[in-house]
Amino acid sequence: MSDTLIRSLDLIEPGALVVYHGSIPSLHGLWLAIPCPCRVCVAMDVIGLAESRFALADPWGELPGPMHVRRVSITRSVAS
Ligand SMILES: [Zn+2]
Repeated sequence: MSDTLIRSLDLIEPGALVVYHGSIPSLHGLWLAIPCPCRVCVAMDVIGLAESRFALADPWGELPGPMHVRRVSITRSVAS
């Protein structure tokens, strides 16, 4: 599948490089996105009540990233 098609489907795959531009300016930048593993988000996902939430991980493994990040707060990085 081409990059263009993936972007048009608006998919964020687990481990995808994303740019965070949400409500915490000090955290803006590049992160690795994974599905939020906390019990609340997983439970919401299972019953289909909420939009998917993501946990963001530092690509260099140095900083703890934000959790429960909304899809609208991240954009798939064109560099990935
Ligand atoms: Zn969560």
